[in-house]
Amino acid sequence: MKETKQRFKVPVLQAKNMKIIVALLLVLLTLLTFAMLRDTDTLITHQQANALYSNNKIEKVIVDGEYIHLKTSDAGYKIYKDAINKTAFFSKYPVEVYEGNSIMYALLLLLLLVASFIFLFRFVKQNRLQQLKHIRATSKAENESHNEPVQALTSSVTFKDVAGIKDVKEELEEIIDFLKEPQKYRDLDIRLPKGVLLVGPPGVGKTLISKAVAGEANVPFFYQSGASFVQIYVGMGAKRVSELFKKAKQMAPSIIFIDEIDAVGKSRGEQRNDEREATLNQLLTEMDGFEDSSGVIIIGATNKVEMLDEALLRAGRFDRRIHISLPDLEDRMQTLELYLAHKPNKVNIEKVARMTVGFNSAALDTLTNEAAIFAMREGRTVVETSDFESVKEKVLEGKRKILSFTEEEREIQAVYQGAKAVIATWLDVEFDKIGIVNTRLLIQEHEILSKSQLLSRLKMYLAGSIATKMHYNEQFTNAATDIVQAREIVSKVIYTYAMGDNFMVNSQQEEDLLRDSAAEVSTLLKTLDKALQEVSAYLLEHENITAEECRVILRKIF
Ligand code: ADP
Repeated sequence: MKETKQRFKVPVLQAKNMKIIVALLLVLLTLLTFAMLRDTDTLITHQQANALYSNNKIEKVIVDGEYIHLKTSDAGYKIYKDAINKTAFFSKYPVEVYEGNSIMYALLLLLLLVASFIFLFRFVKQNRLQQLKHIRATSKAENESHNEPVQALTSSVTFKDVAGIKDVKEELEEIIDFLKEPQKYRDLDIRLPKGVLLVGPPGVGKTLISKAVAGEANVPFFYQSGASFVQIYVGMGAKRVSELFKKAKQMAPSIIFIDEIDAVGKSRGEQRNDEREATLNQLLTEMDGFEDSSGVIIIGATNKVEMLDEALLRAGRFDRRIHISLPDLEDRMQTLELYLAHKPNKVNIEKVARMTVGFNSAALDTLTNEAAIFAMREGRTVVETSDFESVKEKVLEGKRKILSFTEEEREIQAVYQGAKAVIATWLDVEFDKIGIVNTRLLIQEHEILSKSQLLSRLKMYLAGSIATKMHYNEQFTNAATDIVQAREIVSKVIYTYAMGDNFMVNSQQEEDLLRDSAAEVSTLLKTLDKALQEVSAYLLEHENITAEECRVILRKIF
C-alpha cells in the first residue's frame, strides 16, 4: 500500500512543475513581445515635426499605421500621418514601413499564445488521464488484493458433507493422512504427490471435496481461482502465486486449491498471453521449488485436462489425476438424501434420482430447494415426490447445460453402452464401469499393448453404433466420441505402430481394418444378443455396470 502511494505521487509532482514552467514561459513571452511592440514615442504637433525636419535632427522615418514615427539620435516622436507633408519627409529621410510587420507580430504573438495554451491544455489533460489510469490500476490492484487477500480459510466441511463419489474419497484418504501426520511420511522418506488434479464437469463437487480434505485433515485451506490470477493487474499474477506459496509454506501442512486451473495452465498455443505465461511459469517454479515433504498439497480443478500445458502434468507437479464424473444413480440417491436430511419429507428418493439422470450435484441441490419452496407455496409442511416433479422442468430450464435424457434416449443409451460392455467383456478389454450418463470408460492403461488388445478396444468403440443400427435400424449422434476414438486406434495401428500387412501404407488399409472389425462386431453381437438384452436392462435399472457384473451375466448365458 505504502509503496503504491509513493509511486502514485511522482506523476502529480511532475505535472505541477511542468504547469508552473509553462505558465512562466508564457508570461515571459508575452512581456517580451509587449516590450518589443510597446509604443514609447511622444506625440508631437506638426510645428514640432517641422522644427525637427528643418533642424535636420531626424535620422529615420517609420510609417506605422496611422502614425509616422520620427526617430532622432536620442528620442522618438510620432505624429498623425495626415498632419505633415509626407512627400517632403519621405524624400529627405530614409523610410521604413511597419504596418504589415506589426500585424505580423501581433499574429505571431497570438499564434504563440494559442499554441502555448493548446500545449498546456493537452499536457494537463494527458497528465490527468495518466493519473486516472494510475489511480485505476493502483486501486484495481489494491482492490484485488483487498477482495482476495492471500488468506487461509478454516474449512468446516468434512466427508460427511460430500455425498457419493466414494472412490474419489478413497483416493484422497492418503493425502489426508499425510496432511495430518507429515512427519510419519518424512521418517520413512515417502514421496507423496505435490499436486492433485481433480478433473470433471462443473458442479460435481471438486471444490467441496477439496474443502473436505482440508476439514478432515484440519489444515488451512487457500482458495484461488485460476481466472483471477490472469485478470489482475499486469505482473500481479506471478506475484500472487509466490505470495500464495509463501503463505502456504509458512502455515504448512496446508492445502492450496486452484479452481479452473486451465485459465492459467492452458497450453501455450498460438495466442500468447504474457500475463498468463508469467503466472504459469511462476506456478511451475514454485511447484518445483518446494520439497515433497514440505506439507503443502496443491489441488487443481479443471474440466479440460486435455487443454492443460503438458509442463503442469509432468512428474513432480500435478502428477496425480482424479476423475469426478456426473453422479450416477447411487450417487444421486445419496446426494438427495443428504439434501433432504433436514427437510421434513415423504419423498421417494429413488424415484427422484431416476428422473434426474444427467443432473450434477449442484443442480440436485437447486432442485431440492425448489421442491421445498413449491411445497411451502402449496401450504404444506412436508416435501413430497410430486414437488420434485413439478419443479424439475423449471430447474432444467435454469441450468441449460444439463443434458437430461428422456426415457427414449435412456433406452438408446442402454443399448449403446450395453453393447460396449458386452463386447468389452467378451474380448477381455479391461474396464471399471460403463454407464448410461458416464460415457467415459475407465480403461486400465498399460505401457505396452498388443495389436489384438488394440483391435479389441477398437471393436468395443464400434459396438455401440453397430448395436443401435441393428436394434433401431438407425444411427445416432451419441456415437460421436467413440467414432473419434475408433479412428484414432485405426490410424495408430496402421501408421504409428505399423501393425498392418505392409509397411507402406495408405488410407485404403485403414478403411479395410475398420470394415473388417465392424463386420466381426456385427457377428459377435448377433451371437451375444441375449446378453446384450440383459445388460441393457441392467443399465436401465442401475445406470452403471461393472466389469464383474457384466461377466456374471455373460457366464450365466454361456
Ligand atoms: P465444482 O467445484 O466441481 O464445480 P462445487 O464443489 O463448487 O463443484 O459444487 C457446487 C455445489 O454443489 C456445492 O456447493 C454443493 O452444494 C454441491 N455439491 C457438489 N458435489 C456434491 C456432493 N458430492 N455432495 C453434496 N453436495 C455436492
